[in-house]
This record gives sequence, C-alpha cells and structure tokens, in this order.
Amino acid sequence: GAGRPRAASGAAVAQLRRRLESELEDIRGAGTWKSERVISSRQGPHLRLAGGGAGILNFCANNYLGLSSHPEVIRAAVEALEKFGAGLSSVRFICGTQSIHKDLEEKIARFHQREDAILYASCFDANAGIFEALLTPEDAVLSDELNHASIIDGIRLCKANKYRYKHMDMQDLETKLQDAQKHRLRLVATDGAFSMDGDIAPLREICQLAQKYDALVFIDECHATGFLGPNGRGTDELLGVMDKVTIINSTLGKALGGAAGGYTTGPKPLIDLLRQRSRPYLFSNSLPPAVVGCASKALDLLMESNAIAQSMAAKTQRFRSKMTAAGFTISGKDHPICPVMLGDARLAAVMAEDMLNRGIYVIGFSYPVVPKGKARIRVQISAVHSDEDIDRCVEAFTEVGRKHGALP
Ligand code: PLP
Repeated sequence: GAGRPRAASGAAVAQLRRRLESELEDIRGAGTWKSERVISSRQGPHLRLAGGGAGILNFCANNYLGLSSHPEVIRAAVEALEKFGAGLSSVRFICGTQSIHKDLEEKIARFHQREDAILYASCFDANAGIFEALLTPEDAVLSDELNHASIIDGIRLCKANKYRYKHMDMQDLETKLQDAQKHRLRLVATDGAFSMDGDIAPLREICQLAQKYDALVFIDECHATGFLGPNGRGTDELLGVMDKVTIINSTLGKALGGAAGGYTTGPKPLIDLLRQRSRPYLFSNSLPPAVVGCASKALDLLMESNAIAQSMAAKTQRFRSKMTAAGFTISGKDHPICPVMLGDARLAAVMAEDMLNRGIYVIGFSYPVVPKGKARIRVQISAVHSDEDIDRCVEAFTEVGRKHGALP
C-alpha cells in the first residue's frame, strides 16, 4: 500500500546513488545549491510563507503586471475549466484543439500585430522547437552570448551554422554577419530584455544590421511582453521596430497571467511549418483550458487599455531613482528587473537573508548564474506594488546595505 517508497536495489543502483550523492555534495560545496522557499498564499506583492511569515513583501516574481491573481483572470480560468474541462489528454493535431486554443492564437497574433501564432506548453518549448524546424545546415544562426538557456538549447538542437556574438556588441555581430554571408539564410536571435541584467537589446541597431546583411531577426520577449512599449507590446514597440522583427517567442507564464504556456508569432508560413515540424508542439499535450482562459483574459485586459502597462513604468522609475539616490548601483535601464549590483557573492547572500528578516523577499544571484565578481540582488517591480511597498523596500536596502558595508 501507500507508505514507504520502494527502494530499488542492485549494484547498478548502488553505484548510481553514490555518483549522485557525490555530485550533490559538489553542488553544496560550490555554494550553488538552490533551495525552494514554499509559499502558502497566491502569487502577489504580499505573500505568506509556509511555516512562518505572513505579509512578506515580494520583489522576486515575474508577475510584472500583477495579473497572476487578478480576479478577472481567475474567473476566466474557472469558466474555461467548467466549460472545456480539465485538459485534452491529447496533442493538438490528434484531438487536442478546442475553439479557445484557436481564439487565443488569433488574439496573440493581433496583440503583436503579426500574421499568425502557435501555442506551446511553455516558451522553453517554443525556443526548443523553432530553430530545428526553421534552419538547415545551409543556414546560419547568430546568437547573443547571454541569451536564455532555452534559446541556447534550441540552437543546439538545430543543424545550422552557429555564431555566438558578444553580449549586445554590434561590432562583433557585424563581423559575424559578414562571415555568415556564405550561408543561405541568416537568423539573428536575441532576448528582447535580458533577465539577469535588466538590459534591453539594441533592436534598432540589430535590425539595421539585419537589413544591411539580409538577415532575419528573432526575439525572445518573455521579459517584455505585456509591459514594454507604450502599449505593452514589447521591446519591438519600445524601440519602434515592430515591422522589422520577423519572429517573436514569448511566454504566458510571466506578465500575461503567469499560469503557463508559450508561443511563436510571425509570418503565416512559418507558423504553418511549425505546426507540421516543431517537435515540442507535435509531441506534447495541449495547453489546459484553465491556462488558456487566464492568458486570454490577460490579453483582453491589455488590449482594452494601456493603463496597467504604464503604471508599472512609474513604479520602476520610483525604485530605480530612490535606490540610486541612496548610493546603490542598479544595472540596466527602465526595466522592472532592477539588479542591485554588489559584487561579492557572500555580501549578496547575507543581504538577501537580512532583507527577508525585515519581511522583504528578494533573491541574491552569484556565480555561475552571473559572472564571477558580479553578484547582485535582483529586485523585480510589479504594477501592483504600492508606492509604500517600494519605499519600504528602499529603506530596508539602505539599512541592510549600511549594516553590511555595501553603503558608507
Ligand atoms: N526565455 C526567457 C528569456 C525566460 O526568462 C524564460 C523563463 O524563465 C523562458 C524563455 C522560458 O519560459 P517558460 O517559463 O514559458 O518556459
């Protein structure tokens, strides 16, 4: 019956256990062990943690617009669950496509002003599926060295010629584009906004180079969709290049309700091809109706008004300017990802711990997640933080920074 786990035995299993234990010990020894803090409330600016604190101020979710627990988003999920069931028990092309999936794809394409869109279970899957389906050994892909892991993995899976250019370095990209002229097709791939530094890709310059060297541009908009640009359309809107970026991959799991799911949007024949060839699409279950309901409502809210997207920008500005005035260095510009640069890994860890002791949840990042000597605490601003929440966070940083010598 239920109860004790059954432990497999035998020499191979014993050997595996020894190897795994030793690998786990190495991770602990390197100080890079990741533990998971358990939350016992909904996602939001104020959290309750399991076994302890209530009213914790949360500054580390990708809930940029505060839609993860928005009442209308939750209601839409419940309605979709009631009407369309728990799930499809099928991939899309066998019997996993409901009217809500088609409606959401149409809505995503309209939101981004593109021809068509295709849904995935995650943006990780969208990134894993696109390069292999689109590029052959005759083609080339040029990728920013700091692109997200899922882009790197997606590129690994394809057989195109691979070029890695230095982070946002247009000179290096140009050299690599020149070298790549010998291939049939060139695709420049970049995060629109980079999640570790809060910096935004120079898309105007990238698009100019792409035009000069006859290349296509792909952007991953996970940390931009819904809130960058005057109407929250993303980095391409912010930088005025919506008609120059060919392909957008993004997530439904961050600003757009935060449930799960990802997508590609772009030219219709590309989307048609992905439905035929993209392996994470062809061989994985359809998005659950409740998840579709959340994202669909989030897009409705954003297409009705740009007020939500705009409110986040003001909060971001408040945090960045107050922290800078207090003497901290905040990396990036105008992005709700606000990395408080500290340098030393231990300092980042003890300061993050001390912030939590003051009821403020922020996360320290150090090597190997970020380069050696560039440890930081990443703060993420949300539209649902109040001005008081932000001021409390700045005050706590100032106290903790003085205590630990990060500020004079
Ligand atoms: N791309 C970027 C830049 C991301 O930050 C993430 C999420 O961490 C992903 C892709 C993956 O998105 P998803 O959570 O939908 O798989």
